[in-house]
Amino acid sequence: MTAILLVDDRSDNLLALEGILEPLGHHLVSAESGEEALRHLLQEEFAVILLDVQMPGLDGFETAELIKRRERTRHIPILFLTAISKDRQHVFRGYETGAVDYLFKPFDAEILRSKVSVFVELHEKRQEVARQEELLRRHQLAELRRESEERYRNLADGVPQMVWTTRLDGTVDYVNRVWIEYTGLSLEETAAGNVRIVHPEDRERTIAEWNGALETGQPYEVVYRIRRASDGAYRWHLGRGLPTRDSSGQIVGWVGTCTDIDDRKRAEDAQALLVEASRLLGSSLDYRSTLAQVAELAVPRLADWCGVDVLEEDGTLRQLAVVHAKPEKVKFALELQERYPPDPSSETGVAAVVRRGEPELVPEISDEMLAAAAVDELHLGLIQELGLRSYMCVPLIARGRTLGAISFVSAESGRRYEPDDLRFAEDLARRAATAIDNAQLYREAEERAQAARVLASIGDGVLMVDAEGVVRLWNPAAEAITGLRSKDVLGRRASDAIPGWADLAERVTVVAAPGAAAPPPESLPIEVDGRELWLSFSGVEAADGIVYAFRDLTEQRALEKMKTDFVATVSHELRTPLAAIYGSAMTVRREDVDLDSKLLDRLLQVIADESNRLAEIVNDLLLASHLDAGGLQVSIERCDGRELAEAVLEAARTHAPEDVTLELKAPKRLPAVAADPGQLRQVLVNLVDNAIKYSPDGGRVEVALKADAKTMRFVVSDPGLGIPDAERTRIFEKFYRLDPNMTRGIGGTGLGLYICRELVRRVDGRIWVEPHDGAGSTFVVEIPLAERDAKSRARSAAAPRRKSAPASR
Ligand code: ADP
Repeated sequence: MTAILLVDDRSDNLLALEGILEPLGHHLVSAESGEEALRHLLQEEFAVILLDVQMPGLDGFETAELIKRRERTRHIPILFLTAISKDRQHVFRGYETGAVDYLFKPFDAEILRSKVSVFVELHEKRQEVARQEELLRRHQLAELRRESEERYRNLADGVPQMVWTTRLDGTVDYVNRVWIEYTGLSLEETAAGNVRIVHPEDRERTIAEWNGALETGQPYEVVYRIRRASDGAYRWHLGRGLPTRDSSGQIVGWVGTCTDIDDRKRAEDAQALLVEASRLLGSSLDYRSTLAQVAELAVPRLADWCGVDVLEEDGTLRQLAVVHAKPEKVKFALELQERYPPDPSSETGVAAVVRRGEPELVPEISDEMLAAAAVDELHLGLIQELGLRSYMCVPLIARGRTLGAISFVSAESGRRYEPDDLRFAEDLARRAATAIDNAQLYREAEERAQAARVLASIGDGVLMVDAEGVVRLWNPAAEAITGLRSKDVLGRRASDAIPGWADLAERVTVVAAPGAAAPPPESLPIEVDGRELWLSFSGVEAADGIVYAFRDLTEQRALEKMKTDFVATVSHELRTPLAAIYGSAMTVRREDVDLDSKLLDRLLQVIADESNRLAEIVNDLLLASHLDAGGLQVSIERCDGRELAEAVLEAARTHAPEDVTLELKAPKRLPAVAADPGQLRQVLVNLVDNAIKYSPDGGRVEVALKADAKTMRFVVSDPGLGIPDAERTRIFEKFYRLDPNMTRGIGGTGLGLYICRELVRRVDGRIWVEPHDGAGSTFVVEIPLAERDAKSRARSAAAPRRKSAPASR
């Protein structure tokens, strides 16, 4: 209602005015002073003011000036009321202060009312105009806002991101279409609370960030997982929020976006995982431990559970790792597995993946699947407890071979594996498989190198012939045994490179594998450069051909032959004296023959001599076997070499043929030697007897003694048959005889020189034959000199001193 302010210091005047104006029906406010009028003006709006001029305190003019000075009140028309100031001066001041009229008391009620009515009407008109203006402005503004909001929302609905706005307190007041579609939440549902669509692991962090932003007004940014309504998958998003401000800069709300960065994030994570896994796999050749570490890497980034199984050589699967973030869960899973071992013939799972070499992807593990996999109710309950959701398993394949499998299972994370994840897992598996393959190759290479080293150092000849009959391997021993150089054999057909190969290969039994079933190796001869070699051959089938191993039996064969010869020789050697003894004895016994004492004496001498010879042969045999068994005691003492040699020659003279002369050539003074006198004597006896025996045409047999600072040499020379240079070493071998068949009629056991060599060796001496110079032979025995005050010492023949040079050469 329109108000009119009446100001007069006299209440009766005020009453009169009220009485006059009452009929207009406006709201009348009375004030009894200028100050009171001003107070009313602060509180209320007036259409017109009737102002008394003469008042105590602020008078009318002063009050009017104050009213005009104030912005809110300056437009209000003022009617001055006065009784006395009718002079022009006074009236002028009134107009000056902004009065629109002057009314003089006493008023004409009619005029007063009509004047006031005019001003009230004017005021009301003006107010109406202002109101309409305001209305118009508001309407336009609303329209404008609606349009701009519409535009924004259209824009927001058009973008692929989720867009939302909130009020100052954070209550959501708008979400775009993408949000509604992705989250499955309407605006109202969102506003009521949307934390449950954030991944449980990201919730706390996200809420803290958002509250921080609300508190500080700072823009916020957070990377978190939001659940997609269509499939329940949590996808990574980048959430950003900015405060919106009014024209004065005050925050009035927030606007934000959520951008799906899942593919990028997963790709980045996957890439980082791959890099880390590759580094791990390349760091060691112990692929079992690195694979277990890779499984650790995959949890929880790629899976809640990760398992690695590898194929053992026997074809069984071995579980290398089962990983879960919580050890007690792993324990539970392992116990479960022990109780219900996986079926190796199952159509799904690790065994099937390894068998087929194909990956397996189960985006959603359904209850039916679990029920099908469970053995019984209890089993089903236990598997359900694991809360498995999604599963993939990829084979570890390198160079076409399946080496095992890696399996990934999601459970509490709610992750759902998709073809992209499978591709990544396959990539990881490829790298892991390559690492296993490398480690195995390396190990094989090592083994091969080891084998090559063994082959190079082994004493047996080894050769390999491939399917085409070409020699692919010819080890150093093969080269040494046969004298055939590897460069002349390798890469050539065995039948071309190895003399007599065709016959040989036919006779060797080739077995499929080395072992007990193999027959004993075959002894076969081959002839290389006119030399006959006896080799024991065995053959084994290998992947790329046949591997033959052979051993040189030439020497062994010769020894065996010698033994055979020996038996013949010894038999002969024994039989000859026996025949002589038997013959003599029979003659002595004959009663029909009258033996004169001379003849009887001769016959008895034959019996004695031949018995002696028999005893010598038997002694030699016994001594040789003693030496072999290492049971001969040696008692080393200071011996006079000259005395020994003289005694030996003296004894020899008694049975030497007449055409043989025996001589000693030695200086008068000689140092003593360190030897077992009995054994040294035996050595000299053997040498002198041989010298006599192998000089069938007689001649001078000489024993010369020479000493130097450390040794004494006994040199026994004869003019006899001599020894070819090639046989100089061999004659010292047991049973070795130059003429085993006694074509020259000289018998022997082949033991004498062997015994000499062994006895000399035991006193750190040496024995050899000087090179043949066309006349007879010269044997040299070298014995260390006795130390000046050396005490005699005893030594077991079983432990000869080894520091000196070999006993023979
Ligand atoms: P044997 O009992 O045959 O004489 P030895 O071991 O004493 O056995 O000698 C081995 C072989 O060495 C003899 O068979 C002989 O052929 C040869 N031999 C040994 N001494 C002489 C020698 N002084 N002159 C020629 N040949 C010898």
